[in-house]
Amino acid sequence: MYLEDSKTVVIKIGSSLLINEDKIIREKWLSEFAKDIKFLQKLKKNIIIVSSGAIALGCKKLKLNKKNLKLDKSQAVASIGQIELMNLFKKIFNSKKINLSQILLTLEDTEQRRRAINAKRTFENLFNLGFVPIVNENDSIATTEIKYGDNDRLASRVAQISNADCLILLSDVNGVYSKDPKLNKNAELIHEIKNIDSKIERIATRSIGEHGTGGMKTKIDAAKICQLSGCYMAISNGLINRPIQNILKDNSCTWFLPKISKLDARKKWIISSISPKGQLIIDAGALNALKNGKSLLAAGIKQVKGIFNKGDHVRILDENMTEFARGLSSFTSDEISKIKGQHSNKISGLLGYISKSEVIHKDDMVKVQ
Ligand code: GLU
Repeated sequence: MYLEDSKTVVIKIGSSLLINEDKIIREKWLSEFAKDIKFLQKLKKNIIIVSSGAIALGCKKLKLNKKNLKLDKSQAVASIGQIELMNLFKKIFNSKKINLSQILLTLEDTEQRRRAINAKRTFENLFNLGFVPIVNENDSIATTEIKYGDNDRLASRVAQISNADCLILLSDVNGVYSKDPKLNKNAELIHEIKNIDSKIERIATRSIGEHGTGGMKTKIDAAKICQLSGCYMAISNGLINRPIQNILKDNSCTWFLPKISKLDARKKWIISSISPKGQLIIDAGALNALKNGKSLLAAGIKQVKGIFNKGDHVRILDENMTEFARGLSSFTSDEISKIKGQHSNKISGLLGYISKSEVIHKDDMVKVQ
């Protein structure tokens, strides 16, 4: 139902769908998947595929074991594997007359507004040209500190940036179960999740396969981003043939329903930041002002944590350390340390130069609750 109603659809496929445990490439599966994409194209949907597999295919080519790879080597392996991955897609999708393009993203590309808008434009132009972009993280230049590392969260951010209506994470599991299905015969597949509460979080115990990176934990993180950016998200079994037809016919997957849908694109981008750089802890008075739609002033800030620049994403927490909102700071963390707790008319005296009076303007802020 959610998929049928979606105009723009992002589909993420994990490495384990493309290459099996014996390191055999699952060409037949990819060919069936291509039929699904062709079907969605006939329904006039815009499609983005986020595909893992660069490292897995690079390892296969070089006869290496992924588990023993060090970062710098894995960057080279990804560079070798990415071309293998695209050749595989090209061979199979072109035979179904599906035109493909490639986009490699880094964390910074999605976290910086200008770059994110650029990516959005590129997606739109590719849709207009009738091409299906295949996205992966640019593993060859990403470093440990500044990388997604898993394509689940990358896919959710791509969905948000492209203003997609739904994201489908195709995986080797059917979705989220009420209990661990390996241990409990009566575990049931949860069809819809509105709130990601502590019980759902508990189910999301980290499980790492040889090829995949994320496990259920990063899928739940991706779901949180989708919920905040107004996008439906499904976790569904990709191992079966025609996995998209399966969702359309049986809907046997777990859907996460969005929370916020009325935010504009910029605010969706703010709320779904992957890596806020700092935290501002505010007092009760400021909290009240924010609840009434006001901007955050220096006077209400009790504490600043982290090191950040002007324009960076920060989290705004109340005195109980509960996250209330997120926003883009108009000041650096150093500047805020100097002006916190002070009236706005003192700011220029304290800093030695004239600047804005709002630390986070209301237009740059989105409430989390
Ligand atoms: N970007 C990685 C690759 O192509 C995969 C990350 C993941 O497994 O989610 O190998």
